[in-house]
Amino acid sequence: MVKKKRQNKLLISRKRKDNVILKIWEWVSSYLFAKNVSFKKIACSYCSLKNAVWINTIVEDYACDECIPRGCSCVMYPKDGNENNLSISNWDYKKDDEGNELPCEDWRKLTKKDLIK
Ligand SMILES: [Zn+2]
Repeated sequence: MVKKKRQNKLLISRKRKDNVILKIWEWVSSYLFAKNVSFKKIACSYCSLKNAVWINTIVEDYACDECIPRGCSCVMYPKDGNENNLSISNWDYKKDDEGNELPCEDWRKLTKKDLIK
């Protein structure tokens, strides 16, 4: 029991360490980028008013966070964990941390790398 607890603690601290390293890397790379590189802004293909934050990797299409088409059969999950339960009420769209439905997997977030001039 004690051993298990300790293992869990180790797992958590390792995860935290990875997060810290990631954060440092993000900070360092953003600093380096900001110093030497300038970034372009890409307009949303739908409203053309806001800056795009999403890119469609299949067709060249860009979307802001409001226009991004959300909810797609490819980002659904079975609520009871059983993929064989095909009852419609068992399936729901995966959501992000803010509770928004995820877009189709063809879309990904734009990164700084995408926006280098
Ligand atoms: Zn838009």
